[in-house]
Amino acid sequence: MPGLKITTGSPGETEQLGAAIGSLLQPGSFLALRGDLGGGKTCFTRGVVASLAPQSSGLVASPTYAIMNCYSGSTPVYHFDFYRLAGDDDIAELGFEEFFYGDGVCVVEWSERLAELLPPDVLTLQFEYAGDDRRLITITGSGHKSDTVLEQLVERLQQQNKL
Ligand code: ADP
Ligand code: MG
Repeated sequence: MPGLKITTGSPGETEQLGAAIGSLLQPGSFLALRGDLGGGKTCFTRGVVASLAPQSSGLVASPTYAIMNCYSGSTPVYHFDFYRLAGDDDIAELGFEEFFYGDGVCVVEWSERLAELLPPDVLTLQFEYAGDDRRLITITGSGHKSDTVLEQLVERLQQQNKL
């Protein structure tokens, strides 16, 4: 299906979108977050964690130094930030693939740095600045699992008259 474009008007709306998507994810789901610093990737991740691991949602910060934070809940959420890693050679050495194909949900900031290590079936969210408090978020799927999440999201937003 074609990509879905959503404009949020506040950090709270971006977080709500994260929570809505989080509630549709399955073990093994992978969210690839792309776009500039300040685009809202960490804010969105807070919403995902709020829905899957609510005890931990206050803790979500960019794991820029840690590279990965794990939030445990009904489905564990592995939150990565590859901003500081140069390319997929570095990342391959760190051995993250066991998480990418594990039974948690992966939310990956700066997923463009993964190059060919990016799994084939991922929901990609591109964050773009669209004014002070506005962000344009373009969501696309690349396989059966991610396309299903996208279809369910569209259905849910239509039911809520948000599309
Ligand atoms: P990233 O992780 O992409 O670098 P962050 O989520 O850390 O971005 O930061 C986004 C910044 O933009 C925060 O300071 C947030 O308050 C601000 N902001 C303003 N409007 C929005 C919006 N609609 N969605 C998300 N963040 C927004
Ligand atoms: Mg961030």
